[in-house]
Amino acid sequence: MIVILKSGTTAEQTEQFSDILRKRYCVDIHTSVGAQSTVLGLVGDTKAIDVDSLNAFPIVEAVRRVQEPYKKANRKFHPDDTVIDVGGHKLGGGELQLIAGPCSVESEEQIISIAESVKKSGANILRGGAFKPRTSPYAFQGLRQGGLELLTEAKAKLEMPIVTEIMSADHIEFFNDVDIIQVGARNMQNFELLKELGKTDKPILLKRGLANTIEETLMSAEYIMSNGNENVILCERGIRTYETFTRNTLDVSAVPIFKKLSHLPVVVDPSHASGIPWLIEPLSLAAVAAGADGLIIEVHNDPPHALCDGAQSITPEQFNSLANKLFLISDAIKEVNNSKN
Ligand code: PEP
Ligand code: MN
Repeated sequence: MIVILKSGTTAEQTEQFSDILRKRYCVDIHTSVGAQSTVLGLVGDTKAIDVDSLNAFPIVEAVRRVQEPYKKANRKFHPDDTVIDVGGHKLGGGELQLIAGPCSVESEEQIISIAESVKKSGANILRGGAFKPRTSPYAFQGLRQGGLELLTEAKAKLEMPIVTEIMSADHIEFFNDVDIIQVGARNMQNFELLKELGKTDKPILLKRGLANTIEETLMSAEYIMSNGNENVILCERGIRTYETFTRNTLDVSAVPIFKKLSHLPVVVDPSHASGIPWLIEPLSLAAVAAGADGLIIEVHNDPPHALCDGAQSITPEQFNSLANKLFLISDAIKEVNNSKN
C-alpha cells in the first residue's frame, strides 16, 4: 500500500504519522522524499488497513492499494482452481454443472416432477427456494421449513444434491440436509450471516449483490473463507444498470474476471440476470463460452401458475433443449483450451 503525503508536510509530521502506522498496523514504512511530495510504502500485511481511515489524516493526499484486500479468495496465493465436490459432482473441475429447478418449492408433486425432468436432461443439482426474499412483504414468502422438507424428499428420491437460499443465521440449524447453501443477492453483504456460514463446512453459493462490484463480491467470499469455510462458489446473477429491458444486466465479463482474480468456481444465473425466458438460452451459451463452471437456471412445469418468478422460468422441455446445446458448447470450449496447450 502506498500513501502519498501532501506537499508541505514536514519531516516531523511524516515521522509522527509513520509511527502511528507502524504501531497500529505492525507494518514497515519505506519513505521516499521527492521534490513535490513524500511517498510512504507500507510493507507487511496491509489487508486490515481501512483506506478511509488513512484518508482522514490531514497530511494524506492519496492512498493506493498495490495488493488486493482479499487473500484467501485470491488466485495469487492459490494458483490452482478450487474444485468443490457436491454429492460426487464437481464444481470447478472443468466439467460443466447444471443446477436447475423452480424459483420456489410449491408442493411435493411440483418439486418431484421438475427434479425428475431436469435430472433426465443432465442437471446434477436441484435448486428450489424455501425461504424467499420478496420485494413485497405481501408476496408469497416460500414454504420455509416445509419447503426444506419437500426439497429433502426430492433429494432422497432423485439422488440429487440440493441448493437453497438462507436468509438468517438463526436458520442454519434447519439446513443440515442441504448440500449447497445459497446466499442471495440481497444478503451478499450481510456480514454477520457470512461469518456464521464461515463456521460451517457446507459449500456456499454466494450471489453477487444487485449493485456490488467484483471486488466487493470477493470480499464477501473472504468473510466466509476467513472464518474457516473455503467452499465458496461465486455466482454472477446480473447487476443493476441503466438498462430497463432486462430485469438486471448479465455482466458476462465478471466470469473471466472472477476466474482471473480468484481460484473459486464461478456459476452464472441467467434467469435473474434477464428475467426473460427467451434470453436464458443465449445468455447461458455466452456464460459457458466465457468460462463459467456451472449455470443455475429456473425451470417450472407450469410457469404461468408459478408462485414466484414464473415470468422468467423456462419449461422442462426448453431446459432439455438448452442443456443439449450447453454440453456441446462446453465440449467445444474444452477442445479450444486443450488445443491452446
Ligand atoms: C433466487 O435464486 O431465487 C433468488 C432470489 O436469487 P437472487 O438472490 O439472485 O435474486
Ligand atoms: Mn427466483
